[in-house]
Amino acid sequence: MSQTEREIRVRFAPSPTGPLHIGGVRTALYNYLFARQHGGKMILRIEDTDSQRFVPGAEDYINEALAWLGIGIDEGVREGGPYGPYKQSERRDIYREHVKMLLDAGKAYFAFDTPAELEAKRAEIPNFQYDATTRQQMRNSLTMSPDEVKRLIDEGAQYVVRFKIEPGRDVAVDDLLRGRVVIKSDILDDKVLYKSADDLPTYHLANIVDDHLMKVSHVIRGEEWLPSAPLHVLLYEAFGWADTAPSFVHLPLLLKPDGKGKLSKRDGDRLGFPVFPLEWHDPKSGDVSTGYRESGYLPEAVVNFLALLGWNPGDDTEVMNMDELIAKFSFEHCSRAGAKFAFEKGKWFNHTYLQKLDDERLAELFNPVLAQNGVDPDAFSTEYKAKAVGMVKSRINFVKDLWDNARFFFAAPTSYDPKAVKKRWNAEMPAIMAELATLLEGRDNFEAAALEPVVLKWIEDKGLHLGNVMNAFRLTVVGECKGPHMFDITELLGKDETVRRIRAGIEGIKTDE
Ligand code: GLU
Repeated sequence: MSQTEREIRVRFAPSPTGPLHIGGVRTALYNYLFARQHGGKMILRIEDTDSQRFVPGAEDYINEALAWLGIGIDEGVREGGPYGPYKQSERRDIYREHVKMLLDAGKAYFAFDTPAELEAKRAEIPNFQYDATTRQQMRNSLTMSPDEVKRLIDEGAQYVVRFKIEPGRDVAVDDLLRGRVVIKSDILDDKVLYKSADDLPTYHLANIVDDHLMKVSHVIRGEEWLPSAPLHVLLYEAFGWADTAPSFVHLPLLLKPDGKGKLSKRDGDRLGFPVFPLEWHDPKSGDVSTGYRESGYLPEAVVNFLALLGWNPGDDTEVMNMDELIAKFSFEHCSRAGAKFAFEKGKWFNHTYLQKLDDERLAELFNPVLAQNGVDPDAFSTEYKAKAVGMVKSRINFVKDLWDNARFFFAAPTSYDPKAVKKRWNAEMPAIMAELATLLEGRDNFEAAALEPVVLKWIEDKGLHLGNVMNAFRLTVVGECKGPHMFDITELLGKDETVRRIRAGIEGIKTDE
């Protein structure tokens, strides 16, 4: 079947061995973008054949993270689908049957070597590899009689099934991003495909059997899986599936923000950014790792940020929502080189997406932050909160930053910035502010456009210094000399609150002199 008529079917195939790393999220995202662009299907397959590394909670975490980011799944453990089960530990019969197919065809063999025997061989032969040059010296079904093999198996001896790799072959891996890579089959070892001890296949066998049975058209995964690809090519061939083998795309690594090498959790701890989509509570150690969600990132911002780590739209457009990413995504514009994890850019995206939110929506997101800071969110109307956050949102990267920038809308100052006091307050200020309070008290219209000219005219008539008076005024109302336009603040606070704060400032602000 030609690539053009083939239905696009991709899979994200994580192993539930811990929290999904942000690099895994990018892999899932690229799979999703590609599937949606082509009207194809996105499969979520749980690769849990390594029982030693299974971590409880990891599968739920994966589902929750993908749902949070809006990476939709068409077929999977929860969604079901025509090629299930989608969890490898529930597909044992299928793998057993496929291992048998290779054994019957002479493309795989039983090996009974114990760990101690393998260890001894490694000590004896430098750079020992289980392959065509050594397999004849080992205890396997190629060196033993069929009767002996049968007897051992009947007695319940533990064994593995190994893939018999023929030497002297050129193995070509075609990668849509990297072109053709050819390696010699001699460098590959006779990989273990199945272990009797847990009656489970290894990653390699399960992975390619499932890709075949689930009719996967494109295997899009991290670069760390590139070394496995030649083996996978040989396995497709051994099964007689070479004609329908999926196309490979090995995505570039995510690199440390400040240098060479793979991004690690330690980089996040060192530089202060999450490497996981959601907070993770390690069930064994009890350690808690921060997540993008809990750190105040919007999912749209994370998606946009990740999409551009290893891909660009071919021009300098940066802000793209999911639909735009789906429309523009292409492997032609994916880079082969690793992508530096520019986490500061992630903050910029969050800032940008926060600006796009309605002020009402932003106010809703701010409610829990108000509560954390001891303010009852219900004591203020949505309209009031929306106006407050609208005035300061251009200054924030995260919802929680709203508190530092807008707290004075929700609580009168209880202290005054000492530096500002030193610079902006002097012996004449109490009298000037008292006069200002009286002036404001006499005004009915507190709208900024109405109040501002009145106050400015009063300052001018009195021959006062505009900057000094306005800063002292701000100090009494805000507690420091920063914030949005002063008359926008007073419009929202209203007359009573403004006048009360000026009077409290006159009493409360103390200078050293
Ligand atoms: N289970 C592998 C992983 O954890 C899947 C690799 C692949 O996509 O083939 O990433």
